[in-house]
Formats: sequence, C-alpha cells, structure tokens
Amino acid sequence: ATTKHKYVYGFAEGNKDLKDLLGGKGANLAEMTNLGLPVPPGFIITTEACKAYLATGAEPDGLAEQVATHLAALESAMGKRLGDPADPLLVSVRSGAKFSMPGMMETVLNVGLNDESVAGLARQASDGGPGSGDRFAWDSYRRLIQMFGKTVCDVPGEEFEHALDDAKRAKGTTNDLDLDADDLRALVGAYKKIFAKHTGREFPQPPREQLDLAVRAVFESWNAERAVLYRRQERIPADLGTAVNIVAMVFGNLGPDSGTGVAFTRDPATGNQGIYGDYLANAQGEDVVAGIRNTVPLQELERIDKRSYDELLRNMATLEGHYRDLCDIEFTIERGKLWMLQTRVGKRTAAAAFNIANHLVDEGMIDLDEALHRVNGAQLAQLMFPRFDLSGSPEVVTTGVGASPGAAVGRVVFTSARAVELAGQGERVILVRRETNPDDLPGMIAAQGILTARGGKTSHAAVVARGMGKTCLCGADNLDVDVKAGRFTVGGHVVNEGDIVSIDGTSGCLYLGEVPVRPSEVVQYFEGSVDPATSTDPLVVAVHRIIGHADEVRRLRVRTNADTGEDAARARRFGAEGIGLCRTEHMFLGDRRELVERLILARTESERNEALDALLPLQRADFVEIFREMDGLPVTVRLIDPPLHEFLPSLEELAVHVAVAQERGEDPGKDQALLAAVRRMHEQNPMLGLRGVRLGLVIPGLFAMQVRAITEAAAQLVAEGRDPRPEIMVPLVGAVQELETVRVEAEKIISEVTREHAVEVLIGTMIEVPRAALTAGQIAEAAEFFSFGTNDLTQMAWGFSRDDVEGAFFWRYLELGIFGISPFESLDRDGVGRLVRIAVDEGRAARPGLKIGVCGEHGGDPESVHFFHEVGLDYVSCSPFRVPVARLEAGRAVI
Ligand code: ADP
Ligand code: MG
Ligand code: MG
Repeated sequence: ATTKHKYVYGFAEGNKDLKDLLGGKGANLAEMTNLGLPVPPGFIITTEACKAYLATGAEPDGLAEQVATHLAALESAMGKRLGDPADPLLVSVRSGAKFSMPGMMETVLNVGLNDESVAGLARQASDGGPGSGDRFAWDSYRRLIQMFGKTVCDVPGEEFEHALDDAKRAKGTTNDLDLDADDLRALVGAYKKIFAKHTGREFPQPPREQLDLAVRAVFESWNAERAVLYRRQERIPADLGTAVNIVAMVFGNLGPDSGTGVAFTRDPATGNQGIYGDYLANAQGEDVVAGIRNTVPLQELERIDKRSYDELLRNMATLEGHYRDLCDIEFTIERGKLWMLQTRVGKRTAAAAFNIANHLVDEGMIDLDEALHRVNGAQLAQLMFPRFDLSGSPEVVTTGVGASPGAAVGRVVFTSARAVELAGQGERVILVRRETNPDDLPGMIAAQGILTARGGKTSHAAVVARGMGKTCLCGADNLDVDVKAGRFTVGGHVVNEGDIVSIDGTSGCLYLGEVPVRPSEVVQYFEGSVDPATSTDPLVVAVHRIIGHADEVRRLRVRTNADTGEDAARARRFGAEGIGLCRTEHMFLGDRRELVERLILARTESERNEALDALLPLQRADFVEIFREMDGLPVTVRLIDPPLHEFLPSLEELAVHVAVAQERGEDPGKDQALLAAVRRMHEQNPMLGLRGVRLGLVIPGLFAMQVRAITEAAAQLVAEGRDPRPEIMVPLVGAVQELETVRVEAEKIISEVTREHAVEVLIGTMIEVPRAALTAGQIAEAAEFFSFGTNDLTQMAWGFSRDDVEGAFFWRYLELGIFGISPFESLDRDGVGRLVRIAVDEGRAARPGLKIGVCGEHGGDPESVHFFHEVGLDYVSCSPFRVPVARLEAGRAVI
C-alpha cells in the first residue's frame, strides 16, 4: 500500500517550529492552541500541498479527502455543518507563508454563507427580538461576496466599494453601522450583479465549492505578480509556497458587545512596556486597519468589557513569556467571549529592537547572545542618522516609502537644473519629482534629499539615493506634482517652488516647513560625549551593552578607511582598531595640485625630482598626523591609485582657454604644454587605464617618494617614543611580477631610512583585479598581506563601471530580480565572493598566516560582514560611521 502524504494538520498537531510546512500564521495558531489559549478550531493545508498544486495545476491526490476528514472533525467540534441552512458553520480561508508578506496574499471570511444559510445565520444570531439577527447576517454575506469576488475571481475591489459608498450616500451617512438589514440585503443584490458582470457566472452557492475555490485562490496568490516582485525584493525564495488556514468563524460584528482589535505586548515604536493596540466595537476582520471607523485605544476595552480585557492581558503575558519577545496579536470578541485569531513575533522600529532586547536581558528572559542576535547593523545605522525633533508635533502631510534614511530640510525645486543652480548659490534644496530618471542625476547630487510621488524601494530615485547616502522619500502617491506650474499639492496644501519642506527618509514622513534636526544620541555616545554609565537614555544604555557584547565575541577586527588625522581620530572613538585604507590621492588635491602638474609636465629627470622633492615633506607630514592618531594600531597606506590626469584640468576647458588666448594673440604659455599633456594622457577607459601599480612602474620616483614619506614619518614617531605600525599597500596588482618590482625598490628605501630607527613596515597588495584573485598563490609570495578592494573587484568581475551604471540600469535589474540588491551595496557572494574565497585559500596555502582584510564599501555592509567572517578574513575596514555597524555585525556573525 502506498503511504499517504499528509497535507492537512489540525491545529493541535502543529507547533511554532513548523513554519516551513504550516506557514507562520498556521504554526503560531497551532502553538496558541497547544498553550490552551482560546483559538477557534481549525486546520491547516500545508505549503507542500500548495507547491504540488502550483507544479501540476491540480490539487494533489488525497488533499480533497483529507480536507473532508478535517472539515468533518471541525463540524462535529462546533456542532454545526458548513453552510447548513438551519445553523451554518462558517469558516475563514486565510493565507499564511513562512515569511509574512504583508498585503501580498489574501483572506476570505464568512465562507459557507449563501442565499439559504444567510437566513439560518440570522435566526441563530437573533437575541430574541424579531429580525434582530438580520442586519448581522446580511452584513456578513455582503462581506463574503466582496472578499470572494476580489480575491478568488479578480473582480475589481473598487466596484464593491463604490456600491457600498452609494448605499451609504443614499442613506445620508458615512458610517456603515447606519445601514440596516434591508439596506444590506439590497447591497448583497448589487454585489451579486457586480460579481456576475465580471465573472460571467452567478456567485457560487454550494459551501464546499466556495471553500475549494477559496483554497485554490490562496494557492495561486503565491504567484500573483505583486507577490513575485515582493519576494525578489525581500530575497524570499520563490519556491516556498503558502499554507492555507481554515478557521471556524467567530463574529465581532454581532453588536456592541462584540468587536475586533489588534494588540502589542510592548510598544513597537519605542519598545516600552505597556498596553498598546486598537479596538473597534461591532466590527469584523480588517475594519480595524481599513480605518472605516475610528478605533479606540485598547485601554478603553477595560471599560467596555472588563472580563475580556483582563483575559486578553493574561494571554498577552502568556505569549510574551512563551515567545520571549514582543508579540503582536489579532483578536475578536463575540458577545463577551474573547478569541485569539493570530499572533507572531512583532515587527518593530530600530530603537524598539535595541530597547526590547535590553529589557528582556534585564528580565532574565534572554541572554546577551540572544539579545545580540535580535538586533542588526541596519537598525544601528538607522539610529545613527540625525533625526527630526518632533516635540513641536509638526503635521505629517503625507507618508511614502522611507527609501534612504536621514532627515533632510530644504527648498522645493522641481528640476535637476534648478537644483544645481540653487545649490550653487548655497541653498539647501529638496528635489521633488513624479519619479526620477538618469537625467536627474546632477540635481540629485546637488539636493539634500529627494522626494518622489511614484516608485518603491527599488525605483531609480531609491537606488541612486541609497548609493549616494542621500535622504530619499519615494512613492508619496497622493502628491500631485505639477512641474510646469512649479508646485505640488498634497492633501489640500499647495507647495510652491522655493517653499521649505522636511523629509524623513527613515519613517517616510513629509512635513511642510522646517522641522528642527537633532543629532543622534547614539552617535553622541560613540563620540564619547554621552557617558553610558550615567545616561538616562535607555537607547544609549541598550546600545552600549549590546555592542559591548559584540566586541567580546567577535573574531573579525574592524578598521576604518580614513585619509586625515581627524577622520582617524573619530573612527578610533567609534571603535576602529586601525586603518585599513588610507588613500593618498586626496593628499594631492588643493594647492598641491600645482606640484602634481609640475610632476606630470616634467621633461627632464631633474625637473621631475624637483617636483617629487617638493611633495615629499608634505606627504610625510600627512602620515605623521595619521600615525599619531592611530598610535599602536596598524595603518594601511595605499600608494597612489587614480590616473594622473584626474589631477589636471579638463580637456574641454583647457582647449577653450588656449584657443581664446590664441585668438586674442596672447601667449597661452604653460597652458599650451598642459593641454598637450592632457591630450597625451586622455584615456577612453580611465578605470582600466594607467593607474595603480602601473603608474608606479611608469613614472620613475613616484612610489619611491611615497614609500620614503611613509617610512620617514614612522621613523620620526619612533624617535618620539611612539609606536607606528605602517603597512604599504600596492593597488591594482594583477601579476606577482608587478608587485615584486615595486617591492625591490621599496625595500631598498625602507632599509635605508630605518637604519637609525627600527620600524617594521609591511608590504602587501590589494586584491581587486580578478587576475590577482586567480593567481593569489603566486602573489602571496611577494605580499605580507592582502586587502580586497571589493569595489573594483565587483566592477571588474561584472564588467560594469560603478560611476556610470547605477543610475542607468540598476533599477531595472532590481525590478527584474537579476539582483536582489545592488552588488555594490552588498557583496555578490556567488561571483565576486567566489573570487574572494579562491584568493583566501590560495593565498594562505602559499603563505600560512597571511593577514587578509577588505577595504571596499562592503566592509560596512551587514550581509557582507557575515560573508567575510565565514571565509576567514582577519578584518574589515569601512568608513568611520560604519565602524559601529561592522562591530555589531562581526559579533552577530559568531553567534
Ligand atoms: P492577514 O494575514 O492579512 O492579517 P488574516 O488571515 O489574519 O489576514 O485575516 C485578517 C483578519 O480577518 C483577521 O485579523 C481577523 O480579524 C479576521 N479573521 C480571520 N479569520 C477569522 C475567523 N475565523 N473569525 C473571525 N475573524 C477572522
Ligand atoms: Mg492577520
Ligand atoms: Mg580600487
């Protein structure tokens, strides 16, 4: 005999750890049932049944039978039959995948009602008075047709809403409670017509057919377009499928002693303990969230129905103790009897996440490892942005998607050109567009923040803004943008060009006028200006404790990218354990550009040496300052990397300049030679041109000058009794011979300079060209350390230029799901990550104990930090503000 596959579970058969099979909602309903909480009885169709259905287009063998068996059990438990004309059992059919996908899939309530059973329901609901159950029964029936029509048969939801509005208008009311039984009966008639018009069939009467169609619709909703897109964006695997929960209906719309609500065991906004939630009397299902009537704060339930309220609080305490975390809850009260309809570990803000984790440690519910596990670097990063001071309660005129965090204030402009113009005059501007496109890039760069009416987290505006670290609020869809007229309207307000607005890229709120901005307490704590031992800010206390634990457990060291003493000092306060990338090219800008020009234009060896000699003391002074700030900690200095023409004026400008001079019969002088040099050095693909180690090999004396400056600076500090730890890093190496050549010259200089003051100077290389990763074994022979330059490595592995492509097509790639996230934001494990693994393995095989780090932007990206931990790097290096994030994630990677 074939063993039958089990596709259906009664609530008593499941538990919270079966989310893969039963979905989150089902697993938690089962858990609550087994905890003895009052859950209406029901059963769950597994995600496997869904997957089988989606694969074959038909319900798998045995499913119909198992549903029948469980339905019979449910009927006997309830003492009613599904859709029985005399006394109908009704059920809800609810989707529920492993990961919550809010609003993506649907639920049908009141399944089992039809033209006959509506009368039976009315009789059963009657409290004795003639016709007293009628209103309720017809209200339930119209809800079924509406939800079933929309969810199962794709009838446009607005049609039902319009019919409902019409009925209310005819009655002269805006409150659905003013509709009586006759109004609702008529509405059912109207709904049935709408249903028939759109589906070409009558609303199905047989209860079991309703049930089966609803189940099928829930299965299919897994592949609805919006669900597919949502999963790609959230990186939820496409093959999980959804479970279906069949739950006996309980009724919150039976009168004033009934109702429905949501509750949180702690405040999901702050994490504070207390009673949070909303309650709506005489209502069903989504009425609470739909906002058709005003809800009351949950505390008021105490007055309305003290017994249910007390029971709810007891249940909340049970759940929190059991899940050891903030839970959110959906409940319904039917004529004074409380029913629990859903629970899950609740979503929360970043601040609440830290506060709750900290409180739970205090309460002895979780240990510090668990607390660390429950927060993350993205949340910490959010807490480090400056914030609006909302103590003046500014009006939120609309909300959209908080797509790139921060608090930005500025004058409204509607075009990129105007943004650039005003910003050039020193104004702070907010660029407002219906949606952005690549032409808007200059304006986006010039603006403090970007506000759009359309698009979500993966829109052009969102992707580009995040790449630039610029505040962005997008998809504020009731914003009516009129570029021609130079104004937008929102909720009755008219905002003209030049008016000031404030946008919050974290919460997605838009405010008119200037909302004051205050610095983050968490940053002040990292800066050392707030003492966690005496601070009364619970967030500071929580962050201090949890990041302290991360520091204790982590294996990865965290360094910073810094080019100045000031940045180095700040990063050190933020917990950096050295510098992983000190770029030297920034030191060639400003008034030193002149010297670089001289170097480039030098025609003889002595001219060149003169220029280099002039640069040497300046560079040395830079390094002295940085080594001093990082005393006792390693400092990796990268030799000059970008193409030299970046230090020269632009070809166009210079050509015009020279032409104009010649026109006037003047002598263009030095500009003539400069122009010739710029022409000579012009490259089609500068990123793939004369840069990095190639420069060092082509321009005699350049690297030598830098090596000397570094070593002399270190020697000077040793003479002062300090402890500098310089590491010289050669960029863009692809072959060991390149590195060897640089090394021979560098070692000569180092041994010469250190004759008097012993300094240990390491020489290593970046791994940023794919060939370097693939020949890492050879390169390790000449390198004392590796540092992955993951920006270039990503750029070269994919073959696209970061500076050009992000705004050009990444949004489309994200939309299509080719990337879940930009590979410049989070390391591409499969491709670029493979190169990293190869280089680590082969590098360490050739040179055991080889020190390896990473210094690309990815060093501060939470996901990527976990990867670098896994592959065994020694450290990550990131910008100073990212250092705390990396510390936290390096700790989380261990537990
Ligand atoms: P979502 O996943 O969107 O929250 P749910 O399946 O939780 O959808 O259903 C939405 C709402 O419908 C619930 O919050 C609850 O108020 C109501 N509901 C669902 N099942 C029942 C039921 N068996 N009895 C009464 N109300 C129900
Ligand atoms: Mg729900
Ligand atoms: Mg590079």
